[in-house]
Amino acid sequence: MAFQGIPVLNYHAIDNNMSEVSSRNVSVSLTSFKEHMAWLSQEGYRSVTPAELQALLLHKKQPAGKCVLLTFDDGYLSLYQHALEIMSGYGFTATLFLTTEYIGRAYDQDDFYFVKHDRQLNWDELKALVAAGWSIQSHGNAHVKMNGLDQETLKREVTLSKNLIEQNLGTSVYEFAFPYGLYNNMVINELKAAGYKFAYSVHSGKISTSSKKFHLPRIEINNMDNMDSFKIKVATGYTSPSHARKAKLRDIAFANPALKDLIEKWTHKMGYGNR
Ligand SMILES: [Zn+2]
Repeated sequence: MAFQGIPVLNYHAIDNNMSEVSSRNVSVSLTSFKEHMAWLSQEGYRSVTPAELQALLLHKKQPAGKCVLLTFDDGYLSLYQHALEIMSGYGFTATLFLTTEYIGRAYDQDDFYFVKHDRQLNWDELKALVAAGWSIQSHGNAHVKMNGLDQETLKREVTLSKNLIEQNLGTSVYEFAFPYGLYNNMVINELKAAGYKFAYSVHSGKISTSSKKFHLPRIEINNMDNMDSFKIKVATGYTSPSHARKAKLRDIAFANPALKDLIEKWTHKMGYGNR
């Protein structure tokens, strides 16, 4: 069978209380999350390993079988409380893109906030995720919009988060996910200088042998999804066929980072993600 690409699903937090699910758009309900994982397992999906992913992106070596890449952003306690056990039951692992400024505590920021029972994971909980096979990678230090930073701050954001994770967990950090999906050419250059090999955007689509290493696709799963939209996203990497057509045109224009910066300047569009 021809290689169909790997869908990269992007989750944030998991909530057990429906009022919390509807009050923050970073959540999916515990019930939905359980249904998603059960369906993936029934359909024969397995989670791709970091080594397989590197082999695909660096050497165009395709992993065997139906694969999915499960990712979480920010690093909410609810991952340790819910996602870890549910996913382990199916043999799934994930990549967590961690924000390092708020380890072990809550921080109220309008679009990056914690409800009472949910805070940022602490290092012991993160170690448990690593022990279960999860990969902990960087989402920057302070969860800031990276395309608005001066070079010195940018350098600090990408190096401090990498160093903190590597020192506290004894693991290797080489992937980055842009907070809010925002980046520009300077951000990519600083990531490369700091030793990162890959970066994830919020451009939709699936990872394939032709994916660009510093704007890899991901598709967000959120509290607006039902099982039908979830299945479409897993199958295609897009929310709909018209979304897929528009995204393909945009990918052609954005394949060149300098051209992307120029287009964004013209249109005053500072990106299209919101996390
Ligand atoms: Zn985030």
